[in-house]
Parts: sequence; structure tokens; C-alpha cells
Amino acid sequence: MITVRNLSKHFGNLVVLRDVNIDIRKGEIISIIGPSGTGKSTFLRCLNLLETPTGGNITIDGIPLLDKKTNVPRLRQRMGMVFQSFNLYSHLSVLENLTIGPVKLQGRGRMEANRKAMELLKLVGLAEKAHSFPDELSGGQKQRVAIARCMAMEPEILLFDEPTSALDPTMVSEVLAVIRRLAKEGITMVIVTHEMEFARNISSRVLYMDEGIIYEEGPPEQIFEKPQKEKTRAFIQRIRSWHYSISSKDYDLYRLQAGLETFCDKHMLQKKLKEIIVHLAEEVLGIQSEFTAVDLSLHYSEKDGNLEMVCESTGKPVNPLEEGVLEDDIGLRLIRARSESVLYTYGNGRNILRLKIKGN
Ligand code: ADP
Ligand code: MG
Repeated sequence: MITVRNLSKHFGNLVVLRDVNIDIRKGEIISIIGPSGTGKSTFLRCLNLLETPTGGNITIDGIPLLDKKTNVPRLRQRMGMVFQSFNLYSHLSVLENLTIGPVKLQGRGRMEANRKAMELLKLVGLAEKAHSFPDELSGGQKQRVAIARCMAMEPEILLFDEPTSALDPTMVSEVLAVIRRLAKEGITMVIVTHEMEFARNISSRVLYMDEGIIYEEGPPEQIFEKPQKEKTRAFIQRIRSWHYSISSKDYDLYRLQAGLETFCDKHMLQKKLKEIIVHLAEEVLGIQSEFTAVDLSLHYSEKDGNLEMVCESTGKPVNPLEEGVLEDDIGLRLIRARSESVLYTYGNGRNILRLKIKGN
């Protein structure tokens, strides 16, 4: 359906896309992942001609997008784009947001457009908000309206640019559920997302972007479980982990807890385990001897369910596991009771404490 050949995009001296090549087939659901700043949004915007590529070719059903003779507005209508920030018309009601495009751009009758809009609002669960204004809606609701508005134009392909990253964590799942629902209808989708569980479950193919190219692509099992290339592997490892750096004893405990909880929720760890992790983090920090530079991290492997907490601190070697090192060893005893194993090592001027945490 879409072919992209040698696509490049430069902003002045900045080469964002170097050489992007991809074929997107009808009905495919493609997720794009990668570190920020690697050109994921730019790529979507080039597909939609919101940016003019510097070089290369894009064709849609054989029609060259970049040809001067091509009717760009017409082609663009075949693609709907959902942005991070909703971009609804705030002076129009929800219903009018959905009908303005079909009526003004596609010349549909108002009755027909209204009927279709109501159908779509039902589909995204917002029929009762038809006469509300965007400002009266929550972020998750706004984004669902934005998706319905896209669908109102009957696009053949939907492009999503991080559709959930501007949302409160509590609203992410309602938007993902709507996207999942649309995926079932067989519409072609390209989704830039940081929601890895979602990407893994919904996609037929995952593209990892880095270095201005599609650095690695493959089925979700490959990209998430057996990435073939170095940078993909490092990225997947990093997103499976959570890191927190502390430089004083008066660290922000609430922030730490919230971070841990979000990580646990993201990986759907059980509530009990979440509580244990939060306690362990506190205890582990409690037995640190120096607080100049402490890094706490949590690593979760979805494959085998292994969970590891690592605490690194710079300073002289102090092994808290050694008899008599801690004045009070209650914390340590709690840690031992809740971990499968506790290991201390020292290297490169860093004390490293590794806890294997018991699963469920
Ligand atoms: P991603 O979506 O992967 O985070 P982007 O495509 O948004 O990355 O941006 C890639 C790079 O291109 C960034 O360094 C960004 O600052 C730069 N960039 C994006 N749009 C523009 C623009 N209109 N003008 C100049 N630089 C831009
Ligand atoms: Mg982006």
C-alpha cells in the first residue's frame, strides 16, 4: 500500500532521517519505537506530507506522493493522523469536530455526516458527549474524540504519534482500548508509541528507529525478546528498567515510590509484589552508608519473570552483608526475608548490591 524508498529529511545541517526504506501492506499494524529525537515523528509527518522530505520516494498504491502533479490534499485525506496533543477545535462541539471535515472537505450532507459521527462516537464510547465542548472532557476523552474525528474522514491508514504520552496514566488504557478496537476492523495503522506492552500485543511488525534509519524491524517477539542488533538490545533493556538517582539522604521518597509504582503497573506486577518492591527500595536505601551518589534501579525480564533491584553507590568499599558492618541490621534482615538472594560486589569505585526479588 505504501512504499518508502531512500527517504531522507534534513533540518539545516541536522540529518534526522538518513535512509528510510519500508513497505507497508494493507491491514498491517506497525509500531515504531526508539529513543526520543530519532525521527519517529518526522517520519510520520513525512508520510503525511506535513514535512517535505529532503530526498527519496514515497508511493501510495503506486501514486508518487512527492510528484508535483499529485493531488496532495486528496492523498492526505486517505491518511488520518492522531497527535499527542489532540488538536481538537475548542470552539466546536464534539459532534461538530467530527462533521466539519466530512461536510467542508468531502462535501457530505450534514445529515449523513451527523449520523456517521454519532456512530463513531458510540464506537469510542462517547456518544453522550456529542454536544459537549472539548474543554469539558478529560484528556483520555479528548483523545478518543480525536481518533473518532480522524475516522470520520474514512481514512485507509491511521497514523498515531504517541497518542497516549500527554495523558494521565489513568487515562492511557481507555485510549489504547479504542485503538485496539479499531485494529480489529482491519484498518492499516502506524503507531509511534512508548507503550511497549501495547506495541507488543497489537502489532504485526515493530520498527526500531535509530541513526536516521529503520535500524531493526521484525515481529514483536523478535524485537522485544530476541533483538538482533546492539542498539535495539540496549534500548529494550533500558525500557525494561527503572532508574532513580539520589544525591542526599533527604531524597524525595514520594517521587521514588510513585516511580516504582508506575513501573510495576506498566509491567502488570501484582499489588502485593508492588508493595514489597516499595518496601525493599526504602530498606535498601536505609542501609546505605554514603549518599553522595546512589543509583537505584529495577530490572524486570518479562520472559522469565525475574525481578532484580540494584543499588549502586560511589565511595569506599562497604559491604553491608558483612557481620558487624551495620550498626542496626533490622533493615538487612527485612531485605533478606523478602529477597531470593542478596549479593554484594565492589568494582570501579562502586558498591553494588543486587537483590533478586521473589516473584508471586
Ligand atoms: P522523535 O519523534 O523520534 O522524538 P522527532 O522526529 O520529533 O524525533 O525529531 C528528530 C530531530 O529532529 C530532533 O532533534 C528534533 O529537534 C529535530 N526536529 C524536528 N522537527 C524539526 C523542525 N521543524 N525544525 C528543526 N528541527 C526539527
Ligand atoms: Mg516524537
